[in-house]
Amino acid sequence: MPFTRTRIFTVFICAALLAVLALPVTRSTAQTPLKVVATFSILGDLVANVAADKVDLKVLVGAGSDTHTYEPSPADSATLSDAALIFEIGAEFESWLDALVESSGAKGTRIVLTEGLELLKFDEHDDADDMHKGGEGDKDEGEDHDGEHEHGEFDPHVWHDVSLTIKMVERIRDALVAADAENADAYMLNAAAYIIELGLLDADLLFAAEELPEARRTLITTHDTFAYFGARYGFAVDSALGATTEAADPSAGEIAALIERVKAANVPAIFADNVSNPRLMEQIAREAGVSLAPPLFTDALGEAGSEGESYLKMMRYNMQTIVEALSK
Ligand SMILES: [Zn+2]
Repeated sequence: MPFTRTRIFTVFICAALLAVLALPVTRSTAQTPLKVVATFSILGDLVANVAADKVDLKVLVGAGSDTHTYEPSPADSATLSDAALIFEIGAEFESWLDALVESSGAKGTRIVLTEGLELLKFDEHDDADDMHKGGEGDKDEGEDHDGEHEHGEFDPHVWHDVSLTIKMVERIRDALVAADAENADAYMLNAAAYIIELGLLDADLLFAAEELPEARRTLITTHDTFAYFGARYGFAVDSALGATTEAADPSAGEIAALIERVKAANVPAIFADNVSNPRLMEQIAREAGVSLAPPLFTDALGEAGSEGESYLKMMRYNMQTIVEALSK
């Protein structure tokens, strides 16, 4: 008898516990939200889509700003110092981050999102344009950048391939769940919904690229940010500066060589981006007799209200702009 009663009681307690566990939305989160840092705007948007309002998210390099050439401020150091999670692309995209982490005394977990992805080496897609190697480097900003050698062995611009972005979103989800189990259900649900949107985006981009005959799919841009895009959506890529916007200004001879490549590629348009000065591409377009397309969103989101205000919008805008400009 007592055994049965105990057993019924135990079953009741278990059922009650399960019911509580199944109601994550109603659980109070009185504790302070997890402090999370994302290094730049595009990554910040990916994290925000998974975390929503459950974390205190700060982004170091904001919309329209260039991560390659970023110079951290004392405020960034303070932001990093109390972050529990630090999301970064890695592959030397944030070349300033190691020093900033060290000087800030940050103890948070660093999540390097290119880890585990199959990365392209710069050499693999760099053979057509060697402009940035051996640039004269007549820099007038007085900065002590090393010009063309600032980038690493691997290409960090993985976000231009949506299938790789989906993998990064899964890692963001897993890191948030591990660090903040209290809100695990929200992270899982948000990530699942976002990954569906990303899957649709990827399919749309593959479909849109097909509108262009293969012979027209050549993308000539300011710097080498579109290798993953080219690999995924079927474009040949070439650039003026090579791997990073930190490359030294190309010499007159290098510009002349690129003008010849633009002419040989027989493209109707070339492309500037939202983190580089467009003057170089304007000059090349003018001298090669092609048009300069509206700038693409490459290494940063656009300002709020712009066509590039979110990752989803920026990717659609880029493809639409590319297809339109290369159709003419
Ligand atoms: Zn870049």
